[in-house]
Amino acid sequence: MRATMMEEPLLIHRFLERAGRLFPEVEVVSRRPDGSLHRHRYGEFFARAHRLAAGLAAGGLDKGDRVATLLWNHHVHLEAYFGIPIRGGVVHTLNPRLAAEELAYIADHAQDRVLIVDEVLLSVLEGFRERAPFSRILVANRQGQALPAWAECYEEVLARAPQELVYSPAGEEDPVGMCYTSGTTGHPKGVVYSHRSTVLHALASALPDSVGLSHRDTVMPVVPMFHVNAWGLPYAAVMVGAKLVFPGPRLDASSLLELLEGEQVTVAAGVPTVWLRVLEALDAEPGRWRLHPELRLIVGGSAAPEAMIRGFDRHGVTVIHAWGMTEMSPLGTLCRLKREHQQADEDTRYRYRAMQGLPMPVVDMRIVDEKGEVGWDGRSMGELQVRGPCVARAYYKRPDAADAFTADGWFRTGDVAVITPEGYMKIADRTKDLVKSGGEWISSVDLENALMGHPQVAEAAVVAVPHPRWEERPLAVVVPRDPPPGVEELRAHLAARFPKWWLPDAILFVEEIPKSSTGKFLKRALRERFGRASWEELKAQEEEQQRRAEAG
Ligand code: AMP
Repeated sequence: MRATMMEEPLLIHRFLERAGRLFPEVEVVSRRPDGSLHRHRYGEFFARAHRLAAGLAAGGLDKGDRVATLLWNHHVHLEAYFGIPIRGGVVHTLNPRLAAEELAYIADHAQDRVLIVDEVLLSVLEGFRERAPFSRILVANRQGQALPAWAECYEEVLARAPQELVYSPAGEEDPVGMCYTSGTTGHPKGVVYSHRSTVLHALASALPDSVGLSHRDTVMPVVPMFHVNAWGLPYAAVMVGAKLVFPGPRLDASSLLELLEGEQVTVAAGVPTVWLRVLEALDAEPGRWRLHPELRLIVGGSAAPEAMIRGFDRHGVTVIHAWGMTEMSPLGTLCRLKREHQQADEDTRYRYRAMQGLPMPVVDMRIVDEKGEVGWDGRSMGELQVRGPCVARAYYKRPDAADAFTADGWFRTGDVAVITPEGYMKIADRTKDLVKSGGEWISSVDLENALMGHPQVAEAAVVAVPHPRWEERPLAVVVPRDPPPGVEELRAHLAARFPKWWLPDAILFVEEIPKSSTGKFLKRALRERFGRASWEELKAQEEEQQRRAEAG
């Protein structure tokens, strides 16, 4: 027997078409580098996305050609997200925070044919342009600099483009976009998203128990559009016809708070480091910003500390913890409490809310250790593996990286996690960041979060340092607030929460924890800085730090 339903492909064309027809009045607001706001409406977005498609086609874009973007979050990037794929092109977002060598490698590996670049990012482009395969470069958001001889003006390309509305025929397995993972070892690896995976991801992420998006929301993706499609939010927001607010390049706390207040944002998304700064600003001047009473922050990319979730609650802002990966389109889990946990006591509620949460309906999860699959008992740690229609099945042109996928069709996340009997996933670590002490595992993430729960700690990272007897022991690297806490006080704070053998052997204060291009702690840099020292040296450093503190 065959089903009798239409075999209409799942294409993102549908989202653009619907937004243009139903919601032409909905605003798209973008902050320019000088702080002023650019405003237009979905009606213009719809027309300009089509003009971009036509302008690219007039320049000879063929089906499957890669069009790279080197852009901050704003309306032009949104046009690229839709205008490129509706004409058969593949949006390849480049991360301007990467080193020139990496950008050259990535653009060459993807064989990007066209580039759309922000005028304010031309200096980044200069670092790798001659090594990149671009045959056409369009400069957007021009503020009056002369156009280089090798470039075209994005606005002129749109103005010249035929005013036609033609979608290229496409199948749902055709590519929409691609992203490279910010791999910490070896070359970055590319993931290619399809129309089908993008549509399913948008549908699943908009559900009330996922991000929860409606036409009546105002959505601000703070997470860069060059990092896993800003968690797919631009696609999901256009799908439901939500108002969009793009912060441009300035992501400091007061710039963000001004936008959150000024545009009455209801959903914003970004990494914990961004929101920690916002929380500090709110704590410093409570009541200064009149935020929307239903504002919720989707926080992921690295673990959201419980103290941060509690902190935002004090200001009436709800944090929703999320976990995902470039390879997963990217959202995998969101932490929305089940009924029984919503009614639990306060500490239990926060303990659960700090977990990475329940899988979206399009995601299957399992935990595997050396002996095989382990149960969902909340204790057994192992590698988290995932499967689903929005999960990559291979890396782009990287047969050497096939071991990330298992023979039975799962993707190996490289994260170590537990799953509670109720199904909440909790990340313990990246495989390579776990501390192995005397044959047992210590979760650096748990220690970090507990340290960041201390009022005198701004940031904390825990790394493994080789130990002659125990194999590895944890070292905590802490950015203190003023006045700094005593090391013994921090040890006591941890001792109340963890077994004695988990406690860091040394706690060192630093001014700053190095961060990756996507705002995560760069533990590799910490391991390089501290990992070669002996434990005697590290402890001596801690004592010296204590002496200086006591001397005032
Ligand atoms: P990326 O592909 O750059 O988005 O990085 C994905 C990785 O970020 C995951 O494999 C995790 O290690 C980490 N990550 C993302 N979200 C979280 C989270 N909520 N808690 C802990 N780690 C996270």
